[in-house]
Amino acid sequence: MSKYEQLNKIYDTLYARAKEISAQYNPCDMDENKICIRNRADALLGKKNVGYGCCGDIMDMDTPHKCQYLVPGVGCSTECLLCAAMYCKVAEANLPDEVREELAMMARDAFDLGLLGFREPKGVTLLNLVHNA
Ligand code: SF4
Ligand code: SF4
Repeated sequence: MSKYEQLNKIYDTLYARAKEISAQYNPCDMDENKICIRNRADALLGKKNVGYGCCGDIMDMDTPHKCQYLVPGVGCSTECLLCAAMYCKVAEANLPDEVREELAMMARDAFDLGLLGFREPKGVTLLNLVHNA
């Protein structure tokens, strides 16, 4: 198996587990308008640009900027392990301790392998890794 195939397999395994956790525990607690628990709290604090969750403004400065892969009203249009496996503190509080620990371990393993590209599709992360090896 080539290095690309090995990393691809690991990425898929970690991504699938992260999505499974998301589906089982629903830590972001999206409402019917697809506004997450943290953004609902942000709105109560007077923030205007809520609705993109952690796919919004990188600096969290209440601007309308968003990740290029976010399709409003639909969601993420790519697969990004970092986004799937890491949550903000508000969402993390909705997870059992053992699941938080599992995610932290997954993130550490993925980081060590170079699989955590910030807002980066899987293919880009893997190709960068293989080409820069
Ligand atoms: S991780 Fe936090 S900010 Fe991101 S969507 Fe979930 S609740 Fe919202
Ligand atoms: S890549 Fe990450 S930040 Fe961008 S839309 Fe997808 S989940 Fe959101």
